[in-house]
Amino acid sequence: MPSGAAGSNRCGGLEPVRYATAVRDIVVVGGGMCGLAAAMMLADDGHRVTVLERDAAPPPPDVDAAASWARPAVAQFGLANWLLPMGTDILRRRLPAAYELLDANGGFRFNLVKYVLGLQPGVAIEPADDRFDLLTARRSTLEWVMATAADRHRGVEVRRGVPIAGFSVGAAVSDGVPHVDGVVLATGETVRADLVVDATGRRSATPAWLAGIGASAPFEESADSGFTYTGRYFRSADGTVPALVAPILSPIGSFSVLTLPADNGRWSVTLYGLSADPAVRRFRDPEVFERVVRACPRHAHWLDGAPTGELLTMGGIADRHRRFVVDGRPCATGVLTVGDASSCTNPSLGRGCSFGLAHVEVLVDSVAEHLGDPLALAFRYDERTETEIRPWHDATTALDRARLAAMRDLVAGRTPERSVAQRLVDALADAFASDPIATRAYGDLVSCTARPDEVFARAGVLARARELAAAHQPQPLPGPSRDQLLALVA
Ligand SMILES: Cc1cc2nc3c(=O)[nH]c(=O)nc-3n(C[C@H](O)[C@H](O)[C@H](O)COP(=O)(O)OP(=O)(O)OC[C@H]3O[C@@H](n4cnc5c(N)ncnc54)[C@H](O)[C@@H]3O)c2cc1C
Repeated sequence: MPSGAAGSNRCGGLEPVRYATAVRDIVVVGGGMCGLAAAMMLADDGHRVTVLERDAAPPPPDVDAAASWARPAVAQFGLANWLLPMGTDILRRRLPAAYELLDANGGFRFNLVKYVLGLQPGVAIEPADDRFDLLTARRSTLEWVMATAADRHRGVEVRRGVPIAGFSVGAAVSDGVPHVDGVVLATGETVRADLVVDATGRRSATPAWLAGIGASAPFEESADSGFTYTGRYFRSADGTVPALVAPILSPIGSFSVLTLPADNGRWSVTLYGLSADPAVRRFRDPEVFERVVRACPRHAHWLDGAPTGELLTMGGIADRHRRFVVDGRPCATGVLTVGDASSCTNPSLGRGCSFGLAHVEVLVDSVAEHLGDPLALAFRYDERTETEIRPWHDATTALDRARLAAMRDLVAGRTPERSVAQRLVDALADAFASDPIATRAYGDLVSCTARPDEVFARAGVLARARELAAAHQPQPLPGPSRDQLLALVA
């Protein structure tokens, strides 16, 4: 039986999934993508949700003003951003008001697979190809949309300029496992809650907060992804974006070019490579950046717009996965960690927000099943995180490691080794524009609309990938050789 508290949060016939749960007070720490998504979805289930966000500035009046919104706690705020079909689908299904707001405020709608299939003679577009629809925008626009939607959402209160300093602890529900019953603000005030959702992002202090209440440490795997990104935004005079004549993410020898259309005639151009590569460190000089992009014939035209904002650089980005049930015991009950604070990857594949939104869905559905039983909730959330989110994390870090190894080889003048799996994926990628099986299979792989094992288990996909790989000659994209790159950055 649905709980009927959120009639005004619905729109366009898209009904959020509803469950019968008692109304509870929930505190969400962190008002970024995942915290706000969690808050709105939990409110749709009838809960009273308070979001406590460290940054003080409220959302500006519109998306243009949002580009200079002070969000110091979100380091990637001014950098390139992309929302995959996976994340778009979750937004459309579970947060229809936010989806509509993004669409109405210039979000960039695109379906690359349908576009490419349409260029292939005799190939019919199928209804299922709608799964590749995406709606994307600058990070500032996406954050503005989520913040504005949350401010309008019944059952959600967002308090800004309220940093959290730790958890408060109440009566345990399981021997030896601390039970979180609220949060302690930096001012020392305590805000009590039936459940705390920790959505404090990749720089979260969660392990320290757990230690502060005597909880055991979460299991953590973490490594610097080893990449550094440098990029900036551009805008056109007429609201159009440059033609895509190369993959959005284009490896060019020892570096990669990322060209991402965004909302309202904006787009970003990003160069990234190994943090340890001296050539990559030179990309942060605007003249060098321009020289290198201009030397890539299929990307140079992406510079033909008015630059907006500074050229920004970010490195030291960790791949990290945390687990909050260790040796069969939760570190704590009463608190669930979601999004980047739980699991984050190198952002080159544009997956973080989509994985985060998928994790929020898992959280909200686990809460709907088990909110009245904190121990069962901790176990269920952990189990679903490991079976539904962890495989995406692992698949992404495997791709990152492969690209990292290839870049290291290319910097050292060696020819990179490719695994059998990589050869199959490369063959599908190179046939993306010409072979409908490859178009849809590779489309699923990069859109995260199906996991790699699901894609290759589909009738005909593995056989076709093997055929293509047998005849495959890698087709490097045109751009500077390593020696030419070194000359360009000198
Ligand atoms: C360079 C870069 C580029 C990226 N590009 C993409 C992309 O193109 N597409 C994509 O899908 N993903 C991308 N990502 C990943 C994406 O940004 C994250 O996965 C996503 O933002 C995670 O959302 P979150 O809500 O978990 O964390 P965040 O977005 O980091 O939000 C955390 C929030 O918590 C608040 N907070 C932190 N500490 C406290 C505290 N103590 N008290 C109160 N509030 C607190 C912060 O102010 C912030 O608002 C990129 C990441 C980086 C680093």
